Amino acid sequence: MKIIMLGAPGAGKGTQAKMIAEKYGVPHISTGDIFRANIKNGTELGMEAKKYMDQGLLVPDELTVKILLDRVANEDCKNGYVLDGFPRTIPQAEVLDKALTELGDKIDYAIDVDVPDENIVKRMGGRRACLSCGATYHIEHVPPKSEGICDKCGQELVLRDDDKPETVKNRLNVYHEQTQPLIEFYTKKGVLKAVDGTVDMKDVFAAIVEILG
Ligand code: ADP
Ligand code: AMP
Repeated sequence: MKIIMLGAPGAGKGTQAKMIAEKYGVPHISTGDIFRANIKNGTELGMEAKKYMDQGLLVPDELTVKILLDRVANEDCKNGYVLDGFPRTIPQAEVLDKALTELGDKIDYAIDVDVPDENIVKRMGGRRACLSCGATYHIEHVPPKSEGICDKCGQELVLRDDDKPETVKNRLNVYHEQTQPLIEFYTKKGVLKAVDGTVDMKDVFAAIVEILG
């Protein structure tokens, strides 16, 4: 099963992708997590990506496509995967489509987690991330057991630099301009399914399970 999560930054793609990965036994692949791991390890890719991420801009397609295609070529992806944060532009979607077509394969579902802009800025300000294991929390909706500490690995939780309100506004603009057109792209392919992302995360997941079966 090959699944793409679509939706604005902070819509809950990562939250749902982790639950899908666990229930259906497929890897959760987040290009954002891959970039953040590279930044943390001080790699060349990380330094390059950081320049864009800090401004709320997209990392250029050439860099992003390469890391994604390398990742999905791994053995653990042979039965499928859930992509979170990729594709984010039409050219990225086209490259993925071409790579899959060459293998006689395709995306099964593109799930759009729909949340209006008004809700997003509030959500992102409350998000806390563990840069060590990738877990995410929310100070109101999903608080960690001990304030500021990751339940899973005990590392410190942070407000991501790009979750600060001024950067979130840029990210939303970028989303509307460059990523939202993917909704039409996948509608035309007949694989788009939309879910209401404003309800409780368990109810969002129930709606997704209804679609995936
Ligand atoms: P994305 O991966 O789309 O950027 P996340 O999954 O990281 O978004 O979610 C953004 C923030 O909103 C996180 O702090 C998360 O805990 C919280 N969140 C996710 N889904 C919901 C929901 N249905 N209701 C309320 N808060 C949510
Ligand atoms: P995310 O964790 O998905 O919110 O991504 C954080 C940031 O990483 C984004 O704001 C972009 O700067 C960058 N990024 C992640 N995925 C992509 C992608 N597919 N294309 C371009 N930039 C990306």
